[in-house]
Amino acid sequence: MSIADPAHAFSQITESFVKAPKRMLIDGRFVDATSGQTFSVYNPATGEVISQVASADADDVDLAVRAARRAFESGPWSTMTPSERGKLIWRIGDLIEQHNDELAELETIDNGKPFAVAQVADVPLAADMFRYMAGWATKIEGNTIPISVPYAPGAQFQAFTLREPVGVVGQIIPWNFPLLMAAWKLAPALACGNTVVLKVAEQTPLSALRLAELIVEAGLPDGVVNILTGFGETAGAPIAAHDGVDKVAFTGSTEVGKLIVQAAAGNLKKVTLELGGKSPNIIRRDADLNKAIPGAAEAIFFNQGQVCSAGSRLYVDEAIYDDVVAGVAEESNRIKVGHGIHPETQMGPLVSDEQFNRVCSYLQAGFEAGAVAASGGDKLDHPGYFVKPTVLTDVSHDMKVVQEEIFGPVVTAMPFKDDEQLVGMANDTHYGLAAGVWTRDVAEAHRLARAIRAGTVWVNCYSIFDAALPFGGYKQSGWGREMGHAVLENYLETKSVCVAM
Ligand code: ADP
Ligand code: MG
Repeated sequence: MSIADPAHAFSQITESFVKAPKRMLIDGRFVDATSGQTFSVYNPATGEVISQVASADADDVDLAVRAARRAFESGPWSTMTPSERGKLIWRIGDLIEQHNDELAELETIDNGKPFAVAQVADVPLAADMFRYMAGWATKIEGNTIPISVPYAPGAQFQAFTLREPVGVVGQIIPWNFPLLMAAWKLAPALACGNTVVLKVAEQTPLSALRLAELIVEAGLPDGVVNILTGFGETAGAPIAAHDGVDKVAFTGSTEVGKLIVQAAAGNLKKVTLELGGKSPNIIRRDADLNKAIPGAAEAIFFNQGQVCSAGSRLYVDEAIYDDVVAGVAEESNRIKVGHGIHPETQMGPLVSDEQFNRVCSYLQAGFEAGAVAASGGDKLDHPGYFVKPTVLTDVSHDMKVVQEEIFGPVVTAMPFKDDEQLVGMANDTHYGLAAGVWTRDVAEAHRLARAIRAGTVWVNCYSIFDAALPFGGYKQSGWGREMGHAVLENYLETKSVCVAM
């Protein structure tokens, strides 16, 4: 099952990009941190240091925010037509597509994910996000509104709304889909006419720095997009707190999401959050098990389980529970775990030493509480941050492994008796990001889709993402939606204009 192979080669382009000193994009130029500080980037498949990257702090954030403010208020961006704006955004999508494999290699060397996955999913989805949002640039419209005004009898008004960009947007993203998360954030903010200061995750800065070069190549005016590399406390927190930032958009842990809300209180900047999940994946007894069993494995093991919407709680009708658990365990035993650049690899390492230790300690907590591993349950005996795909049984709802987001390749399986018990269990967490339902009963599929408190419900499929389909959380999984036209609300103000005639 293990094909870990650290010797497998990356292309020369990737090797030399990674080795060159990595600078940040501020005001159209690639610069070191003002402090001169850098930090190390690791290849999670080997644990080796591969790159040194500028480490931003509050001074760099301030420079980037000032550049973004100038670009918003007085640069060419501020007077550009929507069509011109759309063309520039589209061009970013084209450049991503032209450099597809190079960007996919950067994701593999930095995040660990299989190259074959980044090549067909992460990078094409990022290109598509820019193109989808490029189209919106010319379609952002207000309304004309007939008003009555009882205290002004006989008066006539022409009233309408203008949709305007919020201004300078701070964006903070995680490490699980480094390029794609940058695309999810940048593309809609730009389509709406904002300027941006984006901080990437300290674990995975490389693909966004390549994207920064492509953004310059596309011809975006200086200061419209600024990309910072640095740590959460030293570079992320100053963005969330900065008085010159009008809005902050964050994707990451619920814990840090709460800190963002507090930091934003100073100037009451607008906040949207895409946070954690502990999503239920439900298999009814009338499901097509030939699809549901591999579907349940894919729902949790995709991207090493490092997906906020991963199907991490598997609920199976008690009549078929044993067979389904055995089937998912068998699927997980078949997964080829190894170095992401190896062509046969299906699951790579976890992103970092820290994440590896976190997942291992969750496994230990699960076993101490009485959980049993139907498959996996430990790390791979190999350098790098590899954990075996794991199915846990004999769990109960009060266990940490059932309540908390593990963010690794670990699923808990529980039987259910009837729908009433099922819905209670499915909704019994602080999260509400996603859910899966596997059934042949159409009416039941719709009923469950309504009963589950989550931002996305997949029926007879899982992890289907599209630029046009809104994604986001109920409850403590977040505020606001990414993607689709819903995301435009995150980046626009509404101005009412009322003209007496
Ligand atoms: P994880 O713990 O899985 O890395 P986090 O929520 O800590 O997830 O990280 C997501 C993003 O938030 C990263 O870019 C990280 O640097 C940033 N971050 C972490 N802590 C803070 C903070 N206090 N303020 C702002 N950003 C932060
Ligand atoms: Mg953290």
